Amino acid sequence: MEDINLDEISGTIIAFPLVNVPAARTKQHSFPYDKWVWWSQLNNLNRAWPGKTDGNITEAITHRIFNDYILKSDAVISFHSTNTAHYSEADISSKESRKLCLDFGRIPQVRFAEINDSLSFKAPLLHGIPAILVEWAPLREINHRVIGEGVIGLNNILISMKMKKGEMNKIKDQFIIDWTKRKPIEQIASVEDGVMVREKPWGCHLKKGDIIGRVCDLYKYREIQKVVSPREGILWSTGPAPSNQSTFFMHTDAVCKGECIAEIISFDEHIINKNGDNWENKLYFP
Ligand SMILES: [Zn+2]
Repeated sequence: MEDINLDEISGTIIAFPLVNVPAARTKQHSFPYDKWVWWSQLNNLNRAWPGKTDGNITEAITHRIFNDYILKSDAVISFHSTNTAHYSEADISSKESRKLCLDFGRIPQVRFAEINDSLSFKAPLLHGIPAILVEWAPLREINHRVIGEGVIGLNNILISMKMKKGEMNKIKDQFIIDWTKRKPIEQIASVEDGVMVREKPWGCHLKKGDIIGRVCDLYKYREIQKVVSPREGILWSTGPAPSNQSTFFMHTDAVCKGECIAEIISFDEHIINKNGDNWENKLYFP
């Protein structure tokens, strides 16, 4: 918001730096937080749209924002942080949302999926308002390189919506995944207890045979496994497994025999933007 020059734009930008204040104060993903369930539909703010006045605190918050601000908007961007590769996502049914996802332009992995109606980037669409999700790694941290990339992406959206003049500044490579028809995620397991040494960042483009990392033994730090990509795709995560829980509960490079240490997703379409930048692929290299 500090970078916006009001003389250069037309229209209005509404930003909510922080919505779930009780959750932030209690250092929780969700609030009220009365169960050991991360993905509870009852209290996850991203799954409580459009909210209601007689619901819980989370639904009261979303109801207010939805009715007072989102319904008056022409487009919505829901910014998140994640413990796997960066991606942008839109409901596959909306051409306008799919275009915004591609025009954001700073993340290689672009997903088109069937999104649940109660999500922050689907509920507006049911009122004809295009909306997208942006997921950046790492989870729960302020990362200035990531924020810098996000500012460029927002600027691209302003240009795409004709709120600002100028040229969009996209990255060279974008990979589209049709999530409704995607192939199963390829998983690689550790052959022995050890330490995972990563050589590729999350979200990077992998060719068949690329070395993702190595597993070294716990006593002499000798290489005991080369972690090799079995196919072309995008590196979704590296250990420890399971990726959707690793950062919530524990983040360590120690791995156990049989544990999933790398996940690779296939893509359907590779878009090359001729004048695009190289992706800043060291945004998060754990
Ligand atoms: Zn999210």
